[in-house]
Amino acid sequence: MGIVTETRLRAMLAKGIPNPFILQAEEKLTPAAADFLKSRGIRIETSVKSSGRTLNAPSVYPLIPVGVSNRHVHLSRAHVECLFGPGYTLTPDRALSQPGQYAAIETVTLQGPRGEIQRVRVLGPSRAETQVEISRTDGYLLGIHAPVRLSGNVAGTPGAVLVGPQGTLELSHGVIVAECHVHMSILDAAHFQVQNGDTIVVETPSDRSRRILFPQVIVRVHERYSLDFHIDLDEANAAGLRTGDFVERIAFQDQFS
Ligand SMILES: [Zn+2]
Repeated sequence: MGIVTETRLRAMLAKGIPNPFILQAEEKLTPAAADFLKSRGIRIETSVKSSGRTLNAPSVYPLIPVGVSNRHVHLSRAHVECLFGPGYTLTPDRALSQPGQYAAIETVTLQGPRGEIQRVRVLGPSRAETQVEISRTDGYLLGIHAPVRLSGNVAGTPGAVLVGPQGTLELSHGVIVAECHVHMSILDAAHFQVQNGDTIVVETPSDRSRRILFPQVIVRVHERYSLDFHIDLDEANAAGLRTGDFVERIAFQDQFS
C-alpha cells in the first residue's frame, strides 16, 4: 500500500498538484498530507468504485475533517430582537465550515436551575426556531438534562433562560445535546457510497494514544455542505480531537456489530 506523505506532496509542488488530488484505492494519505492539501484548497478524491459497496479494507479515504462545536445558540428573528433590541441584526464574526453559516460577535448568558454560563456564542443567520446546543457537561452545570438530538429536532426538549443586553427570554423548549453527524456534499456522498440519513462508523487516527470509535454517525447530505464531522466538546475531549484533525470512516453501520 502506498503512503502519500506531506514530504511527497511538497516534492510535487514544483510541477503542481492536481485539484482534485486522486487517491488510488490502495493508497493511504497521512493526516499531515491531508492537512497540507486542505490548506491549499485541494480536494481529495478516491478512485473507489461508485457502484455497490466496495468497503472491506480497515479504512477508506479521504479522511474526514473534524469540526468541534462548543456550546452555542441559534436564534429566531423574533428572539434576536427580544435579546438585542428591536430591528437588531446579528454581526458575522467568522465563517463556519458550512456555507453561509457564521459565528456572530453576539453572545448571550445561558441560565438553568443550577447555574449559568456566560458569553455563549450566537450562530447565524437566524433560523425559524431557536435552538440551544450544549454538552452534557454544560448540562450538569446548568441543571438542564437535554437529550441527544439531531439539530432541528427540538420537540419535547427542556428549555432555558437566555439573557441578552436588551432583554431576557424564557424558552419553554429547545435545548439539545447535538448528535454527532457528518456533513457531505453530493459528490462526497457518492465517494463514501452513502445517502442522506445513512449511518457510518468513524474512528480517530491510529497515531492517537486514546483511540475512540463513533459507531453511529448520521450522514447529512446537501449540495451546499462541505465534508465535516461535527462533534461537541465532550466528544472531542474524550477522543483528543480538535477542529482540523481528521477521522477515518471504517465501516457502514450495518457492517459493524
Ligand atoms: Zn453540523
